[in-house]
Amino acid sequence: MLKELIDKFYFDRQKDREQQHFYITDAGKCPRAVFFKFKNAPREEMEARVLRMFDHGDHIHQLIMKPLLSIREIHVVASEVNIPPQELISGRADAIISDGKDMYVLDIKSMNSMIFGKLAEPKEENVDQVQLYMHFFKVPKGILLYVDKDKLELKDFVLTYDEARVKNLLSGLDYLKKQIDKNIIPARIPGYPNDDWQCKYCAFRQICDLSNGGEVNWMDFKKKIESREQDIGTV
Ligand code: SF4
Repeated sequence: MLKELIDKFYFDRQKDREQQHFYITDAGKCPRAVFFKFKNAPREEMEARVLRMFDHGDHIHQLIMKPLLSIREIHVVASEVNIPPQELISGRADAIISDGKDMYVLDIKSMNSMIFGKLAEPKEENVDQVQLYMHFFKVPKGILLYVDKDKLELKDFVLTYDEARVKNLLSGLDYLKKQIDKNIIPARIPGYPNDDWQCKYCAFRQICDLSNGGEVNWMDFKKKIESREQDIGTV
């Protein structure tokens, strides 16, 4: 009984999540998948178990922040800090810290032991996010701290601000915003269907498979998926 009620709590939180603006976590992601999120396109429901794991990630962040707030060598300048308001993008960094000499944007990521064990370099999509945080906070250094959520091992990587990379990310988001406003579904990413992890875990994979690989008019495509859903409903 409780399992069903708890699962429902998580499913209800997922409903009607039409996106209105970009989040930092959209940076570097498949533009087509981000487009579908904005349009609230039909997506594969996440299992309640996976949704609970996101909450578990929040607890791990608290676990890491606790010692940081007590260590003499580190000063936590701010935690859970929103990027300054502007039109394009919103996001919240885990913390801005100082070692007495330099300031760093801190981003904490948790993952399972198998992925953690193989991690020799920071993940590109995580670097993109920290680069944007550094840009918006005007803090030229960042730290990506990875936590193995099964064994609680840690790995950290120090990053420096890369202006060219940030420019590229922002112009990509700017272009995607125009496509969203004009109802043009972006082309698939080059690694589709099997060479990019994003396609493997994509909640929009089913509808992406239904369209062709290039840019597609959203209004026409929407009619196609709606009539397909009606056909399935009448079978
Ligand atoms: S399946 Fe791949 S190309 Fe299609 S929307 Fe998802 S991530 Fe993008």
